Amino acid sequence: MTSPPTDAPALPTREAAGLTRAEAERGLARYGRNEVPPPPPTPLHRRVLAQLRDPLILVLLGAALLTIAIGDRPDAVVITLVVVVNTTVGVAQEVRADRAVAALSALSAPRARVLRDGAPHEVPTALVVPGDTLLLGEGDIVAADALLTEASALLTDESMLTGESEPVARAVGEPVSAGTVVVRGRGVATATATGPASAFGRIAASLDGGHEPTPLQRRLASLGRVLAVVTLALCLLFFALGLLRGLPAGTMAVTAISLAVAAVPESLPAVVTLALALGARRMAARGALVRRLPAVETLGSVSVLATDKTGTLTEGRMVVQHVWTPEGAADISGTGYGPHGRLLRDGRQLTPREAHPVRELLMAAALCNDAGLRPPMPTDPTGAWTPVGDPMEAALLAAAAKAHCPGRAELDRLCRRFAEAPFDPQRKRMTTLHHLPDGNVLVCLKGAPESVLDPTVLDAEPGLLDRARSQAQTLARQGFRVLAVAAAERLWQPLPATGAEQGLRLLGLVAISDPPKPSATATLAACRAAGITPVMITGDHPATARAVAVRTGVVDDGPDGRVLTGPDLATAPDADLTAARVFARTDPQQKLDIVRAWRARGAVTAMTGDGVNDGPALRQADIGVAMGARGTEVARQAADLVLTDDELSTVVTAVEEGRRVYDNIRRFLVYAMAGGTAEILVMLAGPLLGLPLPLRAAQILWINLLTHGLTGVAMGAEPAAPDAMRRPPRPPDRHILAAGVWQRLLALASAVTVVSLLAGTAARAWGLPWQSVLFLALLAAQLGVALGLRGRLLTRANPFLPASVAGSALLAAAALHVPALRSLLDTEPVGWSGLWLASAAALAAFVCARLLRGAFHGKG
Ligand code: ATP
Repeated sequence: MTSPPTDAPALPTREAAGLTRAEAERGLARYGRNEVPPPPPTPLHRRVLAQLRDPLILVLLGAALLTIAIGDRPDAVVITLVVVVNTTVGVAQEVRADRAVAALSALSAPRARVLRDGAPHEVPTALVVPGDTLLLGEGDIVAADALLTEASALLTDESMLTGESEPVARAVGEPVSAGTVVVRGRGVATATATGPASAFGRIAASLDGGHEPTPLQRRLASLGRVLAVVTLALCLLFFALGLLRGLPAGTMAVTAISLAVAAVPESLPAVVTLALALGARRMAARGALVRRLPAVETLGSVSVLATDKTGTLTEGRMVVQHVWTPEGAADISGTGYGPHGRLLRDGRQLTPREAHPVRELLMAAALCNDAGLRPPMPTDPTGAWTPVGDPMEAALLAAAAKAHCPGRAELDRLCRRFAEAPFDPQRKRMTTLHHLPDGNVLVCLKGAPESVLDPTVLDAEPGLLDRARSQAQTLARQGFRVLAVAAAERLWQPLPATGAEQGLRLLGLVAISDPPKPSATATLAACRAAGITPVMITGDHPATARAVAVRTGVVDDGPDGRVLTGPDLATAPDADLTAARVFARTDPQQKLDIVRAWRARGAVTAMTGDGVNDGPALRQADIGVAMGARGTEVARQAADLVLTDDELSTVVTAVEEGRRVYDNIRRFLVYAMAGGTAEILVMLAGPLLGLPLPLRAAQILWINLLTHGLTGVAMGAEPAAPDAMRRPPRPPDRHILAAGVWQRLLALASAVTVVSLLAGTAARAWGLPWQSVLFLALLAAQLGVALGLRGRLLTRANPFLPASVAGSALLAAAALHVPALRSLLDTEPVGWSGLWLASAAALAAFVCARLLRGAFHGKG
């Protein structure tokens, strides 16, 4: 627990109105932003130095010195050029990736509700200043150290700060620390310390803010090391063979080093970071905010999507359609949350006598209620009433209004609430105690039928209980959310609200409709096509859950559509939690158990949640998904993915983006490695075919520049393959080159080698400048591969790739025709025949890449 800081608000506070905007601005200028100061940006020279420290670049710099020593000026120039270009591209990619990540974290920054200029406002937590009036509700994270000025049944969880997981009750006058979660109740508090001066700031500042590499980055880094070793060994072999054939040692050393530099895809880490960051940016543009970069890559492997029901699969717009009382049932007409509708039985309006028990029931439901209804704004063309608080409770208020019960304010005045046992998902009921004008006490209770239709709670005949239970079952099977309502009038006695939950009179049942979202069915079908198993987890009744699950297509209406309930799980702790697709009446712990069970089976789980209790399950899931608008701040901050549009289909969109990013990284890897391998093979095999030193160092480096540079980066922006969402998810532990990818990569490298050498030997036989033809053919073949590996050959989605291929082809031609480049690269014009040979090589490589492409995309 923190004590109020000594420099408590020097700024004016007016609880009723909060700070004015000007005061808040002054506070911000004086105290700074309410956040842990971000680490200073890496200066440019440090970034450049980091690039130059790359072992390959160091070797290349060594080679540059060597070329100068042996008087090989052209190679020295080209090597320097390569170092400059590589460093520039590396730094540029790093800066771009950092910017994208920074923009993303700004988007998902925490928010707080404060009173400013007399009205509640949602502001970024960073803008909260000492003196601000914080409005706290369930699921909020306290934005600053603060002193409570109002508290109603306020329960907070301080585990973020103290590690203590038991919620703590907080009363007026007590301090609350920044980072504390409001588990229940409401409160108003005055901020006393913000930013690094607050408790959370003090803790957060000691955390390591550095970026952890993602699993893919780690795996690629180790692959990179293996590649570097193999390449260096092969280049040494090439060097030794050259010496054996009596070639000059200096030339051979420079050529071998250049070959090593060209063959190792040294830009891979930068390409991966950029691909992930840009993937995250595209996701954000489509409504999916990624809060951790590794999530971009994990999303592609999601194999189970566990969703809640209300508001995710259903509209979350609740309407009471039907009530049942022991005296008779009634339908309630009208839509939305407006007070317009009638009580009907068999199509005719109820008589006042018939309506009496229904009104009694709805009145109790309106008293045992924390919601409100907001009339339409004059400016709102829809004229729709909106719920304030829990939509289900608001629906009860609307139904009470349709039955002409007194309004909220009137009820509160007539029957003032003095005690309550708030709704609790474990007990699944809520009880309120009210003073009646005659001095007696009115007990109102509402809750899940099985928790209310209980002889220890109700004073009712067994026959009545059976009738009510069977009625509740029938209504739940029709997809209604069913509540039972009970009440009793008592003499006043000092008892906690839970102690009053006995001997009550059953008033009846309320059936609330919440229609499935039309888009939910399509979303779940898309999931299934993509090999993702949908699972529904809800706190609702099993029959209601099943009805909604069948309507939205989570399960079929057959024996496989089995529903497991929380009580089932409690009595069979060893039950296979992955055997069912629908879970009902679950509590937060069971949600966690279900995620764990799927993960233990090797599934990659995405799980939606928005409540204050969902945090642990969101963190446990591989991808925790929170709703941006509807969800609580706690859920948003625990999640990996925040849906700004609250639409489940956005998860599927994000999965598609994730698969696209992974495909693109793999495509770049295949392309770069096939090219590099081909360069080594050409250099090793050339002499056997009578091509003594197939390429010069400068030529190899020029090829490296044109293939890896822009073309490689352009590959990161390729669109998703048409079948990206029609294939099963990639197992997360599968190596990026597994499932036959590396064999096909070698096949592609061999093809590029063969066509290039064929072009070279043919040129030699025809008396053409064979080295220049070989240079052009090897470059063109690699560009052919770049195009051939595209997922959608003629797509316009990424004009950058064809443009960079065309640019590279032009620069290749320039290498043969521009005199300055010719003398640098030691090339000659190759004439039409040479051009045809190189084009044929490119075409052949393109065709090979197309034939092998399915294997790179479709599998794994
Ligand atoms: P979903 O997955 O549909 O969002 P949930 O997990 O939110 O469901 P809970 O809020 O835990 O479900 O509610 C479980 C049950 O408790 C409901 O089916 C209902 O019968 C009862 N219930 C929910 N809210 C209240 C409330 N405010 N007062 C009384 N009973 C309630």
